[in-house]
Amino acid sequence: MAILNILHFPDDRLRTKAQAVTEVTDKHRTLIKNLLETMYDAPGIGLAATQVNVHERILVIDISEEKNEPIALINPEILEKDGDQEFDEGCLSVPGIYETVHRAEKIRVKALNEKGENIEMNAEGLLAVCIQHEIDHLDGKLFVDYLSQLKKQRIRKKLEKQQRNAM
Ligand code: ZN
Repeated sequence: MAILNILHFPDDRLRTKAQAVTEVTDKHRTLIKNLLETMYDAPGIGLAATQVNVHERILVIDISEEKNEPIALINPEILEKDGDQEFDEGCLSVPGIYETVHRAEKIRVKALNEKGENIEMNAEGLLAVCIQHEIDHLDGKLFVDYLSQLKKQRIRKKLEKQQRNAM
């Protein structure tokens, strides 16, 4: 297993729209293991392949306290959305920034699991937020896109400065 390098906003590669996985193979299962390891190490509660510069529609999530309930979704699609909730979101690609975002409260999702089987699941609350946030990554979208231009500019400047200082 390996810890993968996470891209940071405003890196253009985060804007790539990920391709659907046509057949789930060992390569994808290895990627899922590495995504989980990278997410737990960060630590975070969700990570999309886009964030590690792999542009295939795969994401991992674990919102459990004990970090022992990993979920991997391949080609996830939201079938239904209901309600509205707001949540202070953060993102491993936008380190140190937390802002309120509105999203659907409940969703129904279909995807493939790591065996390549069709699955459908209902999610609400934090899990629903997390799935919507990670699917956005696969579409090249970040949570800062929901904020005002002014706020987004401020975050961009702050992170660019941090990245310069880190070099
Ligand atoms: Zn994120």
